[in-house]
Amino acid sequence: MAPIRFADRMSRLGTEGAFEVLAKARRLEAEGKRVVHLEIGEPDFATPDNIVEAGISAMQNGYTHYTPASGIMEAREAVAGFVTRMLKTEVDPTEVVLVPGSKNVLLFTLLACVEPGEEVILPDPGYPAYASLVNFIGAVPKTVTLREENAFRMDLDELASLVTPKTRMLIVNTPQNPTGGVLTAEDVAFVCDLAHKHDLLVVSDEIYSQLVYGFHHVSPLSQPGMRDRTVLMDGLSKSYAMTGWRLGYAVAPRPLAAKLDQLMINSSSCAAGFTQMAAIEALSAPESEHAVSRMVKVFERRRNLVVDTVNRIPGMRCARPQGAFYAFPNIEGTGFGERELADRLLTEAGVALLPGTAFGHAGAGHIRIAYTQSEDELKHGLDRIAEFIAAHPR
Ligand code: PLP
Repeated sequence: MAPIRFADRMSRLGTEGAFEVLAKARRLEAEGKRVVHLEIGEPDFATPDNIVEAGISAMQNGYTHYTPASGIMEAREAVAGFVTRMLKTEVDPTEVVLVPGSKNVLLFTLLACVEPGEEVILPDPGYPAYASLVNFIGAVPKTVTLREENAFRMDLDELASLVTPKTRMLIVNTPQNPTGGVLTAEDVAFVCDLAHKHDLLVVSDEIYSQLVYGFHHVSPLSQPGMRDRTVLMDGLSKSYAMTGWRLGYAVAPRPLAAKLDQLMINSSSCAAGFTQMAAIEALSAPESEHAVSRMVKVFERRRNLVVDTVNRIPGMRCARPQGAFYAFPNIEGTGFGERELADRLLTEAGVALLPGTAFGHAGAGHIRIAYTQSEDELKHGLDRIAEFIAAHPR
């Protein structure tokens, strides 16, 4: 049989380093090796009990069928209420579209709004799906570099210089994967000015917005005049330890929300009904809010443990991130390149983590550590890293 001929666009679609490293780590484990998992971007906590119970009760009560494509109205209301409270900006449920995972928000917005050949500005290093999906739809990614010496914030002059007549959209992410960096109020104001000046759409990925440490999260959505040009991309995966439930959401200007609804009708039909009902509990119950604060406290302690320990390893240095659950240490002083170090740490030291370049060229000289494990497990992994570096002086 002749080999299957794939469409050109498939050659432009990327992948996610985390899933590849996880697969390799699982193979090593199947061979009997012990691996410390610092690669996965998902909380190790169980989904809070009250949310699980809401999901079970929804299943028992018949929420096991199709729902409207944008979601059950009560769940959209819960999202609108939550976003209104968190971002202090009035959101209407008709501007909310529920999707099975927040990546759909970006894919659908690109499909709905960006023509092939148009340009989209996005961060480097950045979440791999951004450049991958932009390339996939035939648009052109333009990267703004996040530098360690600038606390992984964007260089605002560089950002402005990237805008051309072809620029259609700007993707921002705060708190950021992989650096843990955040957008300051000044950054957000600059992004909004730029968007107004050049008539750009802003997709603001705020999936880690509740995971901040002594920092007040700022969103473009709550800035004056931004409602008509901002798409909030968020979801329950990270803050509520609900990665497997698959629920993301968009808050979008109403005409765009209608297009997202149409794209949902033509793809997933809807997010799972019982997941949507569990989301109401997650976003509305005081018990869920307490569970999130408890998890944030634990993440903050782990962040300090990782940063302080990494800074004692010769050849490595690590900035103290203000959000998400990632540290992005510089490893240039070890004499290793980031890919070789990540590979050898996995195969020789049994520590799975990601090379910075899994997130773009500007991630060179860095590795990403996800502190989504217990303090004991983190200490164990960091000890193994320190021992490996000490045993391989360069
Ligand atoms: N955005 C960022 C920055 C992420 O790191 C992730 C997951 O790692 C996502 C979006 C996707 O999350 P989900 O598809 O679970 O909503």
